[in-house]
Amino acid sequence: MNFKPLTRIGELDNPSHLNFEEVNCYVCGSNNCEEFLIGEEDLTGKDGEFLYVKCKDCSHVYQNPRIPVEGIKEYYDGEYIAHRKKKDWGVLTPLYEWAMNKHDREKEKIVKKHVKLNGDTRVLDVGCAVGTFLLHLNKKHNCKISGVDFKGGLEYPGFEKVDFHEGLFYEQDFKDVQFDSVTMWHFLEHCYDPNQSLKKAHEVLKEDGKLIIEVPRLDSLTFKLFGKKWPGVQAPQHTTMFDKKALVKIMEKNGFVIEKYMPYGAFPPYFYIFTGVYFKLFGKGLNLNKIIFPYFFFQLLLSPILLFQKRLNLSMQTVVCRKI
Ligand SMILES: [Zn+2]
Repeated sequence: MNFKPLTRIGELDNPSHLNFEEVNCYVCGSNNCEEFLIGEEDLTGKDGEFLYVKCKDCSHVYQNPRIPVEGIKEYYDGEYIAHRKKKDWGVLTPLYEWAMNKHDREKEKIVKKHVKLNGDTRVLDVGCAVGTFLLHLNKKHNCKISGVDFKGGLEYPGFEKVDFHEGLFYEQDFKDVQFDSVTMWHFLEHCYDPNQSLKKAHEVLKEDGKLIIEVPRLDSLTFKLFGKKWPGVQAPQHTTMFDKKALVKIMEKNGFVIEKYMPYGAFPPYFYIFTGVYFKLFGKGLNLNKIIFPYFFFQLLLSPILLFQKRLNLSMQTVVCRKI
């Protein structure tokens, strides 16, 4: 008998107000799947058990069934780190800001190798949150900056410099503006329609433009270590979990060729190591205010290993793509 995701989710422990919808494989379109793992919202500790399946035809792993898009917003609240405002961390604020700026500098390093950055460069960041990466590019290279996020109205210093579009990426009207680079830093694994988003990126990119995507990597060391407690599960926000094969396949399917594949990203793999150990030992619900000191302390201890992070396939992957 075929595996029935909607029947299976009915057996799991979920808040009664949640509805679910079945979804076919994002990579090959098949509905033939099997159970892969049950994930929870470990980061915020919110209730719910969510089902991830593996496609029997192409082995892509994705959440099925999923909460319809209008129901998912409750899982993106103020605790969501990408949307944090400045000055939230008391005495550790300078250290936190240094770490966050470092993250943006790492993104810049990746982009800079493939895209010429100057006052004529147009960059669109999809899933831009408060726009710190774009503002960094604008400050350093004078780039023209645009951003999209489904959550708007964020008061952040300098945010008004971003040509900001609120809502779903593929529904935005960019009025024939073409971009030198479209970046998606940890966007695609949250996306409800990755194929439409990639098609939209294709449409708004210049002929020689570059699409740069970073997502967690399922076939990485931290997934092997933590399994369903892997921070890359982050259910129900993550709709997909890409291994290298699935990521390459979905890019090619939507008209891109991979110019460069990297078994790392701008995102610190240490965050996955720390939070993975935490979720394994203490269960879900991570109070960032309480753990920020041990976080930096253990990072210092692990720093000799982290020197080699780009070679160890710890947690992330990044692709730089151009249009076929
Ligand atoms: Zn498939």
